[in-house]
Order: sequence, then C-alpha cells, then structure tokens
Amino acid sequence: MELKVLGSSSSGNCYILDCGNEALILEAGIRFLEVKKALDFNIRKVVGCLITHQHNDHAKYIKTMVDNGFYTLALPEVWAAKGIESTRSITLELGKGYKFGNFKVLPFNAYHDVPCVGYLIDHPESGKIMFLTDSCACEYRFKDLSHILIECNYSHKKLTEAIRAGRTLLSQRERLLTSHLELDMCKEILATTDLSKVENIVLIHISDNNADEQLFVSEVERTTGKAVYAARKGLTINVQRL
Ligand SMILES: [Zn+2]
Ligand SMILES: [Zn+2]
Repeated sequence: MELKVLGSSSSGNCYILDCGNEALILEAGIRFLEVKKALDFNIRKVVGCLITHQHNDHAKYIKTMVDNGFYTLALPEVWAAKGIESTRSITLELGKGYKFGNFKVLPFNAYHDVPCVGYLIDHPESGKIMFLTDSCACEYRFKDLSHILIECNYSHKKLTEAIRAGRTLLSQRERLLTSHLELDMCKEILATTDLSKVENIVLIHISDNNADEQLFVSEVERTTGKAVYAARKGLTINVQRL
C-alpha cells in the first residue's frame, strides 16, 4: 500500500491510499486531472472518497468525485453546502462504520470552525491509519495504529513571529487557535497515543506562514522516536504494514 500526497495545505488537500488493485481517496481539494494522473488514469480501482469538511481546500471538487461514480462519504452539512444530491453521495453518521472495498472506515468528531470529522481507516495491507486534519484537538486515542496522518498547522512561536512580521493578520490568530492543530497539541496527542505499532507519522496541512516544517518534523521525531514526514505535493510513502 502506498500513500500518495497530491496536496496538503490551505491551497488544496488530497491523498490517495493505493494498494494497486484498489484505491481510497482522502479529500477532494485538488483538480481531478491530478487525481487521475496519480492513479495512472486507472480510476476504476477507486473504491471511494472520504471528505472531512466543506471548506474548498478539502471539498472543492467533491461534485467531480460523485460525477465520476465514486462513492463519497461526507457530513450532511457538506452535501448541503455544495448542493449535491447523488446516488453516490453517502451522508455520514457519527458512530457508524463504513466499508469501501477492503477499507473499513470509522469517522470521528473533529474540532474546526465548521462541522468536521477525522477518520480511522483500516485495510489488511496497511493496518490502521488515523487521519486527522483541520481540528484544534482530538478527544480520542486509538490503539493498534500502524500509520498516522495528523495536522501540524502552526506553532505559537511561529505564529507570533508571523504576526510581528506582518505575514499573518492578528485577526486570524483567534480563528487559528480554535480551528487548527498547533505543534504542542499535535505532540501531546502523539505522546498520549500508544505508538508501539506505528511505523510512519505524516504531518499534514502545515501552514506556509506560521510554521517551520523542518523544525516540526524534528520535534515530533524527538517526541515519538518514529519516522516522521512533512506532507508535500508529490510525496509517496510506503504504508504497507510490517
Ligand atoms: Zn484546510
Ligand atoms: Zn478547514
């Protein structure tokens, strides 16, 4: 199983879990042509698409997903916001599990400025994958994880520097604090999660203005002792379970 990063920032998010004969798309924030290219134009292997929330960097191309026949799972607020009714749109209910091919999917509540979920994704080839983005916290700690994709959007220090330097507006600070995951909170979640079976940690949705990618990677490496990656367009990671 491979994890392909097509985009991981406020300018567009999309990831593909691809095991060769089936693929699951996470988020629809990237042009469909890029998705097709990443799949070598074999879109028949797509078993589904998962959406975390309605913001365009995650859901701009959701209609293209259903129009191409992909079963797409999203909160009712997402379908309403996008005005989509389709036989391929699945209205997410928290507490319910879903199956896409051999992927088992369990959505869980996230904390953003619009309704948002994270996903626990289980496939025989990869083991359990936690996927959390655009959330200022996480109330759950999952066991037996093999891989973690977790937002590491900003740090208090970098945010303060960016505001002082005029790269970030002071008025944006309040929103960030209650809608995106800060470095210390990311480390706290990881430090309180059983990482004994975890192979890879991928830091996602890193801010261009309020972050230091290299520093975040090395700090999380130091906290966890695991292989840590910063998600950037074009990154591919082997997420085969050992
Ligand atoms: Zn976002
Ligand atoms: Zn968002």
